[in-house]
Amino acid sequence: MTVPPTDRTAAPTKILLDESELPTHWYNVVADLPEPPPPPLHPGTHEPIGPEALAPLFPMALIQQEVTTERYVAIPQAVRDVYALWRPAPLYRAKRLEAHLDTPARIYFKYEGVSPAGSHKPNTAVPQAYYNAQEGVTRLATETGAGQWGSALAFATAQFGLQCEVWQVAASFQQKPYRASMMRTWGATVHSSPSELTEAGRAILASDPDSPGSLGIAISEAVEVAAGREDTKYALGSVLNHVLLHQTVIGEEALLQLAKVGETPDLIVGCTGGGSNFAGLFFPFLREKLAGNMEPRILAVEPAACPSFTKGEYRYDFGDVAGMTPLMKMHTLGHDFVPDPIHAGGLRYHGMSPLLSHMYELGMFEADAIDQIACFDAAVTFARTQGIVPAPEPTHAIAAAIREAEVCRETGEEKVILTALCGHGHFDMAAYDAYFAGKLRDFDYPADKVAEAMQRVPVVGA
Ligand SMILES: *Cc1c(COP(=O)(O)O)cnc(C)c1O
Repeated sequence: MTVPPTDRTAAPTKILLDESELPTHWYNVVADLPEPPPPPLHPGTHEPIGPEALAPLFPMALIQQEVTTERYVAIPQAVRDVYALWRPAPLYRAKRLEAHLDTPARIYFKYEGVSPAGSHKPNTAVPQAYYNAQEGVTRLATETGAGQWGSALAFATAQFGLQCEVWQVAASFQQKPYRASMMRTWGATVHSSPSELTEAGRAILASDPDSPGSLGIAISEAVEVAAGREDTKYALGSVLNHVLLHQTVIGEEALLQLAKVGETPDLIVGCTGGGSNFAGLFFPFLREKLAGNMEPRILAVEPAACPSFTKGEYRYDFGDVAGMTPLMKMHTLGHDFVPDPIHAGGLRYHGMSPLLSHMYELGMFEADAIDQIACFDAAVTFARTQGIVPAPEPTHAIAAAIREAEVCRETGEEKVILTALCGHGHFDMAAYDAYFAGKLRDFDYPADKVAEAMQRVPVVGA
């Protein structure tokens, strides 16, 4: 059923799929790239590492997915059964926002806030918990920035009978106490990071007892615990290839949903912290673009206070602060750079997905950076028209979508804009309060701090 999309009243408000239309496969974009991404390197020797180097941290099934060049990976039935608790996720046409903006653009958003944890993160937490359980692991250690990933993994481990230990970045542990409550409800143990429980945490606290923490620090703590215990492995909620792979259920569903209303996107826009929800949304559309079936412009939006794509250097760096992870070639601000405590905690990461970084260098998408006050302006407009209160992270994509729709108002272009509303903001109301009280501020791009951190990035190939 295809309705004239310009007739806002007649067009459907939400486009739903049946449970039988839940994707059966994840899509691996690596199969369609003109050249493969550069390999991770051993931190000491700077030689490419083989899959076995990751074995202390990840189960073999995930390591295989990390390096596979197969175009499709089958989703295990046990994972699809858990996905079915909330997937397929709805695609909405933001008709009330469009009317408010008086734009001829048609704005669609894929809503991932319907998951139990309230974001896209369970799309990868569930298969990660599943594959660990399959290989006899009993405990997972992880970090969480905004609390979203910790919640997702706590939920997922509960589905497969695993224990879960989470290091939550101190700034968010204080701003969002109910995220930790939620994790505990699903059975996880939660620590504020930096903590006294690890060497990495103690080292940071010794130099800065009031450290607000960062994702890089929390990763060091979780990796240290996982590497030191036989029964424990580590789980990462973004950045890595297998995470981006799992998130492609977002884009596969959205592709099918837009096809049902006879639409193809002119602009696909997503927010990027480590890049997983953005990649999950656009990879299947990129496959169609490479096949000549559509021609969307693709745009990543990051915080102006932590702009890895737009201001970072593309070079080998560590994924964590302590320098325990392999070296990955990515857009980085320096592994010990601590971003200002913006409210979009999920976007406070010094690095970026190596796969997306490679694709950015190949010119396969664009990037932009937006300040947090402009993002909250957009969030409030969105909430007052569409009803859903967005998490601070996707407000970056919403702000960019609104800007584009406003340009369409001037030019009269009927562009189709697609974004992912990757999480709701029910645990972020303190951020909204700060915004309404005029206490939110924009942080200048910390050029000096970044330049200083970049001096400590290892020189590879020298
Ligand atoms: C974690 C998170 C992000 C950032 O991670 P990506 O891997 O870039 O998607 C963005 N939005 C929400 C709601 C998150 O939970």
